[in-house]
Amino acid sequence: MTKQIIPASTYGLNNTLINHDALQVIKKLQQHGYSAYIVGGGVRDLLLGKTPKDYDLVTSAEPEKIRQLFGRNSMIIGRRFKIVHVYYERINKERSERVGKVWRERHILEVSTFRSNTTPVHALSEHGRILVDNNYGTIDQDAYRRDFTVNALYYDPIAEVIIDYHGGLNDIENKLLRIIGNPYERYIEDPVRVLRAIRLSEKLGLTIDENTYINFRNVKHLLLNEPKGRLFEEMLKILTSGNTLSILRELYELKLPRKIFPLFDKLFFVPEPDAFAVKVLERTDARLLNDEDVSLIFILAGMMWPPIFKSWQDELTVNSHPRQALMDAISKNKDVVFNSGISQNLYSAIREVWMLQIEFDLPSIARLEHVPSNGRFRQAWHLFHLRNEFNEVEPVIFNWWNRFMLANEESRTELLIELVDIAPPEYKKVRKNKKNRKRKSHRRNTHHQENN
Ligand code: ATP
Ligand code: MG
Repeated sequence: MTKQIIPASTYGLNNTLINHDALQVIKKLQQHGYSAYIVGGGVRDLLLGKTPKDYDLVTSAEPEKIRQLFGRNSMIIGRRFKIVHVYYERINKERSERVGKVWRERHILEVSTFRSNTTPVHALSEHGRILVDNNYGTIDQDAYRRDFTVNALYYDPIAEVIIDYHGGLNDIENKLLRIIGNPYERYIEDPVRVLRAIRLSEKLGLTIDENTYINFRNVKHLLLNEPKGRLFEEMLKILTSGNTLSILRELYELKLPRKIFPLFDKLFFVPEPDAFAVKVLERTDARLLNDEDVSLIFILAGMMWPPIFKSWQDELTVNSHPRQALMDAISKNKDVVFNSGISQNLYSAIREVWMLQIEFDLPSIARLEHVPSNGRFRQAWHLFHLRNEFNEVEPVIFNWWNRFMLANEESRTELLIELVDIAPPEYKKVRKNKKNRKRKSHRRNTHHQENN
């Protein structure tokens, strides 16, 4: 394939569409004599008429040089693949209005240096996977080592041209996802490309080129050698793609080996995926489709709630203290959480969302005022609502909470008095649990029948 340089206007691309901070970085690099472009997802998404979620910048400047240029507003990260994060502060207008003060946010731009397409033998694993990728090169080498043709389009916002080495523009027009080079070799080099192909094709509505698809089945087992952290990152990208359910369907059909995504194995890669977990993903996909924000903590806490809830109900048959029973249920499910690569910090947040369900189910006047001010309240509240849709919550209590959250100071006092009647805490806890156990397990059964 020959190199083509095309005026960006031919494809309706211009700088008003590009993020201001990204333009600043490019300008500064070019002013200092380096070449610099926007590449990858940002260019691809704009050409497909979608709003990019971030911009990947690429330059001839090496990481240390980029760092010198941007000083304290930058940091070199990564080992296997060194890149530089450049920080810009910006004011979030919408949030500032909401909280009544200036709300500043850090905008991170990822800048990488052109990679060479030759990898020294010592940088490869025994399976042929690239372990270290800090061999710098020229733009045409860099274009070759990118994964798909549509990801190897370089936009120069100063010259206002697109540089296309591998026919990516043509593939954009034909809505085709095509790997660069020999597919088999490219997947051996980096098996995660299989997952990227499926995710990107679903997310962007691209057809996977026949030759690109054909090798998936021969190489998918190589994903088992990938570091957990990298697979976890990919799992997060799938969960926030806006097309999670269709991606999961494709991965299930591909018969991805077990243990690559332990969480998906348990919840979705089964003949009857859990209806609650599916609902969490459906809601997330719908929100992303409407450009609404989503919370990763909620997605994970919600997806994993069904096994927690089940263990909780089981625990309650031997332990009359609901809080302790929930804590035990959570620890019993720890394995699947940590096997998925979830960090301790993220886990603590998820756990908090689960533990707050106790405060909703069995509201206690003594602890009540701390509930809405809890940092995880929003996610826990969403989960509580979803649980209600699945008949896991006492209707009187659900109704009470909704009135409580809408009430002013005065009516809150009345509601507190009402609460004494509907849920005398300690006394009711024990009695309710015994009663509930039968009813809830009955509900669960009917639920399963509905879904079968
Ligand atoms: P998105 O950010 O929308 O998920 P993206 O294609 O931008 O999609 P990134 O992970 O941000 O994904 O990667 C940026 C660019 O880096 C890609 O467009 C591609 O050119 C290159 N790239 C990323 N991962 C790989 C890989 N595994 N092999 C080769 N090139 C890759
Ligand atoms: Mg990107």
